[in-house]
Amino acid sequence: MPAPDAPIALAVHGGAGVIDALAPDQEQAIHAALAQALDAGHAVLQRGGAALDAVQAAVVALEEAPWFNAGHGAVFTAQGDHELDAALMEGRTRRAGAVAGVRTVRNPVQLARAVMEHSPHVLLVGPGAERFADGQPGIARVDNAWFDTPARLAQLQRAQAEEREGAAAAGRYFGTVGAVALDRHGHLAAGTSTGGMTNKRWGRVGDSPLIGAGTWADGQVAVSATGWGEAFIRCAAAHDIAARVAYGGASVGEAADAVIFGTLPALGGDGGAIAVDAQGRLALPFNTAGMYRGWIDRDGRRGTAIFEA
Ligand code: ASP
Repeated sequence: MPAPDAPIALAVHGGAGVIDALAPDQEQAIHAALAQALDAGHAVLQRGGAALDAVQAAVVALEEAPWFNAGHGAVFTAQGDHELDAALMEGRTRRAGAVAGVRTVRNPVQLARAVMEHSPHVLLVGPGAERFADGQPGIARVDNAWFDTPARLAQLQRAQAEEREGAAAAGRYFGTVGAVALDRHGHLAAGTSTGGMTNKRWGRVGDSPLIGAGTWADGQVAVSATGWGEAFIRCAAAHDIAARVAYGGASVGEAADAVIFGTLPALGGDGGAIAVDAQGRLALPFNTAGMYRGWIDRDGRRGTAIFEA
């Protein structure tokens, strides 16, 4: 049994990027959704549960909320439908599971967990991942249109209009969700779930389901990233944060800042990350206008925020 006073800590994000002007009731609803995800994850940690279960519970709560680009509320592809990606990683064992391009799985993070526990693989994609889901009784399935929301459709239409005019590149709208946790046993886990980038095509997969790019956990650090996935992939962002701690002796805050404010913008990338270390120290840096985020630190202090504090 772990010591009842062993530290626990949790952070969640609902994406970073250009955040459209929010009506006050919308802003309130987003804070409430972040708080609900924190509650879901923290309840697991408080009863001595595993960081992996806490992360999964928090990510499922965010997938269910319409405000974020994951599960219900995911962005639209260029074809006007949804392809979802998710990953989970357990630090102590380095076990990991991930899915990409799934279309009928209500909570992709649960399928990622099933890949980790019930397959010999780490990452399953597209129709193969769907076939795997067919054999997993606990995985809820929905019609692809279940992920639709009017706000995301409007974003797609705007992105496509801009594209026709040769203006901004598609995909300004982020909103991926993620969670990182430290449990009372001293174990870490990370999870991330996303619809990817608005107007994506050709089976595009971002950083979220790629272990080491958008999601990572080892014995010392757990990381979930959000932002322009291509840049996160090109600098193995989540793993780089952990490596700076492991090999460079950086604190989790220094390591996360170095990647989010240094390596990533040097590649033209924007976004943010949440990270926690084995002592329960949290880091939530972002180089964008905002990042939906929430935390409960090792002293039990909690908060949610959207823009710069
Ligand atoms: N990183 C995600 C992707 O590129 C998008 C996001 O964070 O919103 O798929």
